[in-house]
Amino acid sequence: MEKVFLSKCENYSKEEVYRAIDKIFDLAGGIDKIVKKNDKVFLKINLVMKKHPDEAATTHPMVVEAVAKKLIDYGCDVIIGDSPGGPYNEKVLKSLYKVCGIEEAAKNSGAKLNYDCRTDDFLTSEGCIVKKLNMIKPPFECDKVITISKLKTHGMALYTGAVKVLFGMIPGIYKAEYHLKMPDIKDFSNLLVDICETVKPHFSIIDGIVGMEGDGPTAGVPKKTGLILASYNPYYLDIAGSYVMGINPKDVPTIQRAVVRNLCTGKIEDIEFLGEDINNFILKYKLPNTKSVNFFRGRVPKRVEEFLTYYLSPRPVFQYDVCVGCNRCYDVCPPKSIKMQNNKPHVDYRTCIRCFCCHELCPQKAVKIYRNKIINRFLK
Ligand code: SF4
Ligand code: SF4
Repeated sequence: MEKVFLSKCENYSKEEVYRAIDKIFDLAGGIDKIVKKNDKVFLKINLVMKKHPDEAATTHPMVVEAVAKKLIDYGCDVIIGDSPGGPYNEKVLKSLYKVCGIEEAAKNSGAKLNYDCRTDDFLTSEGCIVKKLNMIKPPFECDKVITISKLKTHGMALYTGAVKVLFGMIPGIYKAEYHLKMPDIKDFSNLLVDICETVKPHFSIIDGIVGMEGDGPTAGVPKKTGLILASYNPYYLDIAGSYVMGINPKDVPTIQRAVVRNLCTGKIEDIEFLGEDINNFILKYKLPNTKSVNFFRGRVPKRVEEFLTYYLSPRPVFQYDVCVGCNRCYDVCPPKSIKMQNNKPHVDYRTCIRCFCCHELCPQKAVKIYRNKIINRFLK
């Protein structure tokens, strides 16, 4: 049985979050089981894009502050960081930390913010789909990596939590390269598991106090869930996280790959929950519009499948009345399927790989997901 630690947390007030984080560390066997004094700890959080904490797209600064303060008071040196999609440099990070409230969290806790944008190649000893990965270097120079992800739906990956948050180890624009090389969700999920197996986070925490439902990871709607979850095992933590959202863990692509690779069983029954009864927190999160049904996959000839995918799979559509012509979607589109004409984006759906990076990273929420009416009928 793998253990997952649950701590009820009603809101983001300092008192409530600090109390809930104390409880998580106690349930996990005490802080000395997680870190040693003088350890250098990298706190890998979710800063997918510049968003105010109330939008629930990024790890809430109060959770980051509480964890960092706990570690620093114990005697650790703490560095907080992430690499968002798009450019990755000091200027981008500075503004990201400020808008997301992380600058304040670092100031209040005494943690350092990462501005070191060096990257390096790392061999993936357990790699299934890649033999080496170019990743941000500072976490590998620390004694421990602790992740604090956000409980959210995800357009491409369905769910994002402890494993998906590690895609931020890939530096900025290189994320697009991986999307391009691995447009199939099965391959992409294997990549995420490869990253997780290479980084080997020592402890994983999910901020599920307010999660995000619908068109996550950035354009969905905040959903109060009132829970912080944690585990030494990121796969079992994601089984618990998706279960809380009303998603069958076996529908989550990263969990599917982890099961195939014998990294977890995918079963909620194989988890011992400490702290709270998980059944008191199960909600029904609305799923992203990108959720499609592959009912024809493997049942029709390949060319027919491609034709059906082209016409029936969800696709990004642009709301020109909201779009400000900032070029962000054009910059991040892995296969360069977007062209800017008269300062507005236009997609070539024949080459679009449905990665939904444009949807994820549009600062105006101008990219909606169109789902074919036939598919809608199947999903009702
Ligand atoms: S990222 Fe959004 S606002 Fe910017 S050009 Fe694309 S659709 Fe328009
Ligand atoms: S248009 Fe959007 S969904 Fe299609 S490949 Fe480009 S970024 Fe991905």
